[in-house]
Amino acid sequence: MSNKKIPDSRGYFGEFGGKYVPETLWACLLELEGVYKEVSRQASFKKELKFYLSEYAGRPTPLYFAKNLSKHLGAKIYLKREDLLHTGAHKINNSLGQILLAKHMGKRRIIAETGAGQHGVSVATVSRLFGLNCEIYMGAEDVLRQKANVLRMRVLGAKVIPVCNGSKTLKDACSEAIRDWVTNVGDTYYLLGSTVGPHPYPYMVRDFQSVIGSEAKKQILKKEKKLPNYLVACVGGGSNSMGLFHPFFKEKSVKFIGVEAAGSGLNSFNSASLTKGEIGVLQGAKSFVLQDKFGQIKEAHSVAPGLDYPGVGPEHAFYKVTKRAEYVTVDDRQAIKGFKMLSQQEGIIPALEPSHAIYYLKELAKAAKNKIIIVCLSGRGDKDLDIVNQYIK
Ligand SMILES: *Cc1c(COP(=O)(O)O)cnc(C)c1O
Repeated sequence: MSNKKIPDSRGYFGEFGGKYVPETLWACLLELEGVYKEVSRQASFKKELKFYLSEYAGRPTPLYFAKNLSKHLGAKIYLKREDLLHTGAHKINNSLGQILLAKHMGKRRIIAETGAGQHGVSVATVSRLFGLNCEIYMGAEDVLRQKANVLRMRVLGAKVIPVCNGSKTLKDACSEAIRDWVTNVGDTYYLLGSTVGPHPYPYMVRDFQSVIGSEAKKQILKKEKKLPNYLVACVGGGSNSMGLFHPFFKEKSVKFIGVEAAGSGLNSFNSASLTKGEIGVLQGAKSFVLQDKFGQIKEAHSVAPGLDYPGVGPEHAFYKVTKRAEYVTVDDRQAIKGFKMLSQQEGIIPALEPSHAIYYLKELAKAAKNKIIIVCLSGRGDKDLDIVNQYIK
């Protein structure tokens, strides 16, 4: 199958994806899809996005040959340095794309949900840049746990709205954001942060993040004169990994490995939707979901705040069942080892999310001696030092 056909016109990647939403949301989603398809083709939109990605966010990011780590593990390891972007992670690629779309649609107000606050900070950032009002829904539990990011959002002029329903975490914040959107769709744009949710979000976010893989492809061909053997990235909702993988979809010799978080390693405490979940519907799309035997969504747990999500994007579900990608798990303690390994080998402190992918290189390199591996370093680790400190003691 060519990747031009996925998703199909109804938003399905094979059997996954779609729009499992109340009727009131259909009109909002159809409008968004129509505008996205038209606007994203325009040269002026492409030019403006390119301008902000390079001048404001810092693209292109280097594809860095990690000499010490390569020697240490016995494979040729390249790091795609998304950690060097403004705000310290890949999320800004998507936020810039969608804020330009919102501006084009004449929206005055931006809303978003956030769990650990990383996406909230990125949305608050781009909203400030374009002078748009910004309100971020965040579970009341998360507001207490993530004080630094709440402060960042407020400094950036965003209003943080604590959500006191349910488990007071990410999924409750999502429900509130959607309720708001349906009520205020005339002037409001809902800026989703990963390759999840109802069509057209999974493929729109994928397109905006594909700049990661497109750059990496050019860079590796220049440096090695050939394609890599493996692409490795951590998978939360799935946006940094899909951004890296997608431009290589047709290159069958390139293997994709998505690394999920196994949390503390106990079966009931993990975030590995693809490895441990079942097919189900979460937030408007059919995919793999962590659910109990009654179909209730389980709470996800991981040492990495950005991987703490009970679902995963539908395109990854499609890659899994068609075996285009392989999905593996790394637990909290292993991720901390990955964090230390990259810090000590290369002088680069990674975020805990990509530390999962870094740790997996240790396993992979045993079977892939001297092979070329590109790993997505999705973010930098400053935000995680307090968490790591608890493990190092
Ligand atoms: C949010 C986040 C992730 C997880 O999100 P994806 O959509 O799976 O990419 C990974 N790494 C970092 C640094 C993040 O902030």
